[in-house]
Amino acid sequence: MLIVMRHGATEQEITRVVGVIRDLGYEARLMPGAQRTAVGLVGNDGRVDASRLEGLPGVQEVIQVTKPYKQVSREWQPEPTVVRLPGGATVGGSEVVVMAGPCSVESERQILESARQVKEAGAVILRGGAWKPRTSPYSFQGLGKPALKLLAKARDEVGILVCTEAMDPEGVGWVAEVADIIQIGARNMQNFSLLKAAGRSKKPVLLKRGMSATIEELLLSAEYLLAEGNHDVILCERGVRSFDTATRNLFDISAIPVVHKLSHLPIIADPSHGTGLRDKVIPMARAAVAAGADGIMVEVHPNPDAALSDGAQTLFPDQFAQLMREVRAIAEVIGRRVAEPASVGA
Ligand code: PEP
Ligand code: MN
Repeated sequence: MLIVMRHGATEQEITRVVGVIRDLGYEARLMPGAQRTAVGLVGNDGRVDASRLEGLPGVQEVIQVTKPYKQVSREWQPEPTVVRLPGGATVGGSEVVVMAGPCSVESERQILESARQVKEAGAVILRGGAWKPRTSPYSFQGLGKPALKLLAKARDEVGILVCTEAMDPEGVGWVAEVADIIQIGARNMQNFSLLKAAGRSKKPVLLKRGMSATIEELLLSAEYLLAEGNHDVILCERGVRSFDTATRNLFDISAIPVVHKLSHLPIIADPSHGTGLRDKVIPMARAAVAAGADGIMVEVHPNPDAALSDGAQTLFPDQFAQLMREVRAIAEVIGRRVAEPASVGA
């Protein structure tokens, strides 16, 4: 961390900054310049609160030299994290993993049919929300705990892995009992008690980017999971808020290579929530794989027109099957392979 002093800062002001740095337990290194003096804080282990220094008299600005996150960074671990799933699929290696299914679990028939259809097309993981974080309290909120039973049944009968969202710390335990991956949704990306609970769980976590979160904030939220001891973390780009209303969100494909550069964690893409429109999901899914995403998450429903949530962005099963064929071809061109559904449960 570099503390840049104002032009004309007094000796006394500089000495005070040096004193505060030493009181915090770090070494202060003076760097006098022609225009202004800077003071380097040496040994920053990520715990330094910049606001302790920013407000001191004579300080012009505080520049972070090192990244505020640690364990999720490439410097901490240069080789990519490979999350191993039951049945042998991996996220973060050379495979591209496809997660698909309805926005919400609606009924036994709907989720079993979805599971069969997405597995048949080549998805490794069935997605489907038991609890739904809806903007309006009057919208369908999900079936809750009974939906977990239905997901467990789909896992056992169809033989497909399951990813579903935990909305609060209490839900983490319930979800972890049936799911192979615990999802933390965009609205909860900075729910720190939820992150800590998921960090203590032994199941892989899919952490979605908040709709107005920077990539640095996403990585800091992931740091919570690693700091609690859970290293099986998969990030997910799902679009951010923008000024443009042409799509539901602005699908930030550039987040994929940016995250790969900064972090060893795998990142998948969710073009369904990223665009909000069925006909935009397909090209953006293709683009995400081409951009190096370690997987995609796509909403698919046996009858999207009757879906209780997110129908407009949900693919028909035949569209999904076509997308799978295209994604396999794209993966091959960039030296990757789409993971094949493994036999689990069934
Ligand atoms: C979802 O995956 O169903 C979901 C609610 O997504 P997000 O948290 O990205 O909005
Ligand atoms: Mn949805």
